[in-house]
Amino acid sequence: MSGGAPEGDRQRRERIAENLRAVRERVATACEKAGRSAQDVTIIAVTKTYPASDVRILAGLGVTDVGENRDQEAAPKAAATADLPLTRHFIGQLQTNKAKSVARYADMVHSVDRERLAAALGARARIEGRELCCLVQVNLDPDSAAGVIGPRGGADPRDVPGLADRIAGEEGLVLGGVMAVAPLGGDPAEAFARLRAVAEDIRARYPQARVVSAGMSGDMEAAIENGATHLRVGTALLGDRGPNVG
Ligand SMILES: *Cc1c(COP(=O)(O)O)cnc(C)c1O
Repeated sequence: MSGGAPEGDRQRRERIAENLRAVRERVATACEKAGRSAQDVTIIAVTKTYPASDVRILAGLGVTDVGENRDQEAAPKAAATADLPLTRHFIGQLQTNKAKSVARYADMVHSVDRERLAAALGARARIEGRELCCLVQVNLDPDSAAGVIGPRGGADPRDVPGLADRIAGEEGLVLGGVMAVAPLGGDPAEAFARLRAVAEDIRARYPQARVVSAGMSGDMEAAIENGATHLRVGTALLGDRGPNVG
C-alpha cells in the first residue's frame, strides 16, 4: 500500500471531508440537471493505493461504499477495516484464481467479463455461504474486436446477455446489473449512452438488475446523465495516485 497521507491525521481528515463535499456537490448538480434524485446515485470511494486509515476517515464521514481493484491490496485492507459497516466493491480485472479470496470480503464484484469467472465466483460464494452481487463488465471500446478483452477489460456487448444469464443461473451469485469504464480518448457521454442501452436490455429480462456502475472522477456528470446508479470515485476524493498505479 503506497500513496497515503503526507499530512497529519487531522489535515488528512479535513482534506478528505472537503473533497467529499465537492464530489457530493457535483453529484447533486448533475442529478438536478438530469432530473434525477441524488439518493439514487451511490458514491463508491475507490481507495486503491491509499491506506486503511483513509478508509476509516471516509467511513467516519458517512461514506458507505468502498472499492478496490487489486485483491493483493484489497484483502488486507478489508481485514484491517472489518469492524466498519461498509459495502465492499471489487472493481478491477480479476483472475479466476483470485475468486477464492475476493468471494470472502467483496459484496459486489463489478468486473465479471467471462463465464469462467462467474463459475469460479459462484463456486467460492457457495463454499463461503455468501451471496455475491455481480455486474457484467461491458467493453465500450468500439475499436476492440469481438471476443478480445481490451486493456480496460469487459465483455463484448454482444456477449453480455449470455453472461448475464450465466450469472443469474449461478447459485451464490445475484445479477446486479452492468459496469463499464469509458474508453480513453472518446466522448464518455456517447459511451455511457451505449452502456445505458445494454443496461436496459438486461433489465427488461431481469428487473432487479438495476445497477449501472459508470463514471469516475473525470466523467461522473456524463455517467449520471446516462443513468448511472453507482459512481466509482478515487482521485476526486483522495488525491492523485501518481503514474502507473491504475
Ligand atoms: C481506479 C478506478 C476508478 C477510479 O478512478 P478515478 O479516476 O481515480 O476516480 C474507477 N473505476 C475503476 C475500474 C478503477 O480501477
